[in-house]
Amino acid sequence: MKKNLICLIFLISPVTFAKHTIERVEPPFWWKGMNNTELQMMVYGESVAELIPEIEYDGIAVKRMVLVENRNYLFIYLDIGSDATPGEFTVQFKNNEDRMIDSIDYRLLPRKKDAALRKGYDNSDVVYLITPDRFANGDTRNDDIEGMKDKVNRGDKWGRHGGDIRGIINSLDYIADLGFTAIWLNPVLENNQPKASYHGYSTTDFFKVDPRFGTNSQYRELSGKARDKGIKIIMDMIMNHCGSEHWWMDDLPCDDWINNPDDFFITNHRRTTLRDPYASNYDRRHFIDGWFVPTMPDLNQKNPLLADYLIQNALWWIEYLNLAGIRMDTYSYSDMYFMKDWTCAVMNEYPDFNICGEEWSLNPAVLAYWQKGKENPDGYTSCLPGLLDFPLQNALKNALTEQKSWNAGMINLYEMLSNDFLYADPFKHVIFPDNHDMSRIFTQLNEDIGLFKLAITFFATMRGTPQFYYGTEILMSNTGDNSHGNIRSDFPGGWEDDEVNAFTNQGLTKAQREIRRFIKKLLNWRKTATAIHGGKLIHFVPVNGVYTYFRFNDEMKVMVILNKTANRQNVDLTRFSELLVKGATAKNIITGREITLNNNLTVDSKQPLILEIE
Ligand code: CA
Repeated sequence: MKKNLICLIFLISPVTFAKHTIERVEPPFWWKGMNNTELQMMVYGESVAELIPEIEYDGIAVKRMVLVENRNYLFIYLDIGSDATPGEFTVQFKNNEDRMIDSIDYRLLPRKKDAALRKGYDNSDVVYLITPDRFANGDTRNDDIEGMKDKVNRGDKWGRHGGDIRGIINSLDYIADLGFTAIWLNPVLENNQPKASYHGYSTTDFFKVDPRFGTNSQYRELSGKARDKGIKIIMDMIMNHCGSEHWWMDDLPCDDWINNPDDFFITNHRRTTLRDPYASNYDRRHFIDGWFVPTMPDLNQKNPLLADYLIQNALWWIEYLNLAGIRMDTYSYSDMYFMKDWTCAVMNEYPDFNICGEEWSLNPAVLAYWQKGKENPDGYTSCLPGLLDFPLQNALKNALTEQKSWNAGMINLYEMLSNDFLYADPFKHVIFPDNHDMSRIFTQLNEDIGLFKLAITFFATMRGTPQFYYGTEILMSNTGDNSHGNIRSDFPGGWEDDEVNAFTNQGLTKAQREIRRFIKKLLNWRKTATAIHGGKLIHFVPVNGVYTYFRFNDEMKVMVILNKTANRQNVDLTRFSELLVKGATAKNIITGREITLNNNLTVDSKQPLILEIE
């Protein structure tokens, strides 16, 4: 397998007459005290490969240098010893006559106290997913940046609308008040693409926030201010591909830095080819090495220099931003052994951290393969804590929209959850009614407010960590136009001249305000509902379109009843006697009303009932 080889390593043969200017060093700085004491420095500049780096600093030594086909790159591996003191040191670049040609100053920072012990998001959290360009424009001065190709145009669904990190910082009180305790931002790193750059999935600089979103330090400010309000930050990362305008695309380090650079093909998106015992090599290769789209070159993580670069990139952002989690884009599209190394490297540095991988399959068997602790027939393991639960999302939509039959309707949820035996730990998944890549849940449920409430209730009380997309709380929809640009519509009130303003309630309908109150009540209750965070789950076969489940631990017991039918339903409680004592008192957590549970209970049409059993 040629791809497994590092790109050609040349012997050092310095010449003295070339021009040498160091243009980039990545990562831009590092920390003392990481578990992995090795640091890869990627140095870029004309003919830097002809130079020899020298460092005189106690505790820091050049372990090795790696030269590649392109003489404008030099990969230096440093050893950061335990005796190295945080501070600034100089790397001198000398020619073969021992003359210094160029130098850089590099910083070794002290780590924050307990940086390695940071706690990742967990099931006590509820995640608010934001598409930053479309949420709030907190700084109009950064809407257009000179030299950046894609200009602001709010009238264009595919264009940039001007939302930014400042807008999110300004909205933290709104988000916290709703009961959210984590924010997942769609990517905000530089995407200097000519068009459709707003979504952020075409990285053109792995170490820099896009100036139209703000700056690295603003991203860190967001993380700090969010933490002060009890909100964790989850960063969206993409290691499968970069943007076609990435700075290295004009001058790639190695021939195998990206897959099929000269005759690229689009991935067939057939994730099953990795597991399928009957899959052809052709189809498998066309999944794994294909480009996501023509503007997203497929990175070859089998190249060990690139693998180190990407692993360090993740550690750098976790440490710099004080992150509580990573959402990893297109998880299975990257080299699977790289994903093992990447997840294990991250979790090795931060044992209590959390990561969810995106594997957009509706088949839990396909997801289960990737999770830490899964025993796979081929012996493959990884350190990935959890996945985004696409199968459960789809089951929920079908459960609420299909006509009831033996194998349709509510039974979808019951049957899908019964597949949880496939997972090493289904409680580690992130569960969601929708996200930035699919129709809004209100639209998926044909704008039925009753069904919508059932969906919100289900995800707020089911096993896993719930995630809701911005605007769900005010019934944002995309009915009639399921294009990404429309799904990711502007949040009303995020722009100064908006007629409707969700932050001030100006122009919101009664239904919008009611739903938001409902969600706020539910999520704030959930904060201390330990049975929902880590409690057991027992569910009962749906009867007459009514699905009932219990979440419980030693401290509390919660019964959730979802009636999707157009009629009030009488629920026979005697079926639940293994969990319910006849005559028990229960409190409706939305209305606060107390009831006594005897043999029967009436449940309103399309109304969720969440009862705390006392
Ligand atoms: Ca802006």
